[in-house]
Amino acid sequence: MAPMKRLLDPRRNRHQLIAASSIAVALAVMGIKYIAYLMTGSVALLSDALESIVNVLTAVAALIAIRVGSQPPDRVHPFGHHKAEYFAAVLEGALIILAAVLIFHEAYQAILAPRTLDHPVAGLAINGLATAINAAWAWVLVSRGRALSSPAMEGDGKHLFTDVVTSIGVIAGLILSTLTGWSILDPLLAGVVALNILRIGYDLAIESMSQLMDQAASPQIQERIRAAIRANGEGALQAHDIRTRTAGPQTFIEFHLVVPGEMTVMAAHEICDRIEDAIEKELVSTDVVIHVEPDHKAKPKGAVEL
Ligand code: ZN
Ligand code: ZN
Repeated sequence: MAPMKRLLDPRRNRHQLIAASSIAVALAVMGIKYIAYLMTGSVALLSDALESIVNVLTAVAALIAIRVGSQPPDRVHPFGHHKAEYFAAVLEGALIILAAVLIFHEAYQAILAPRTLDHPVAGLAINGLATAINAAWAWVLVSRGRALSSPAMEGDGKHLFTDVVTSIGVIAGLILSTLTGWSILDPLLAGVVALNILRIGYDLAIESMSQLMDQAASPQIQERIRAAIRANGEGALQAHDIRTRTAGPQTFIEFHLVVPGEMTVMAAHEICDRIEDAIEKELVSTDVVIHVEPDHKAKPKGAVEL
């Protein structure tokens, strides 16, 4: 077996710091956007502020997931706890969908009862400031989430980007309706933006659920694994039934290695260790299990020939 190199995880502190900052940013943005609503009386700005409550909740959920997800493997969860992050990402997908439904509802209300705004310029400027803070923080989350291979953090950032899109749509709609006097423009634009948010929430939820169901590693990663086996399997005959699954930054790999039937356990194990080391070097955070078989177990199709 490859040694477990994840007991001391320096990523964990960075994860927690970022997640805790997310809660602070979400609270600040929510407060600022609520002030913009109070100044204007705009239903669209209220729904924009409402969506920030979802951000506070998801940031709390992400912090919990990261605290659990970065725990080292233990007796009860010997494969580690990384999948906790996918639960947070599924929850975020569901909350993004809920936010879209909230916006549809607010837009419908505004179509039924159109109203003019009190202080549109100041209100929109204040909402714009909150939107700029959100955009900057969303960029931090997505780039750090990718760098740290954290689906929860990346999901959080993507969700925040949908907020930025919503806010820009709302601001644009309110400017247009103020300039033209067509108050119907505001709810219509909000509805269009909500459709986009619905799609992003759906994608995030589906992707995370697929990961929870042991989705295989990407075709590119699978090809790198096959290449590492091919380059380091000297002495063995073939590798087949290669299966992969991922949990956060961790890739689990297992396959059958066919060796000449008369080969000693010692020699076969040496080949296994060589392949395990090569894969570990290629992909960094892996857990490789190899099942050794004699030559009559060779498969005619789909095997990596050595
Ligand atoms: Zn071993
Ligand atoms: Zn086999």
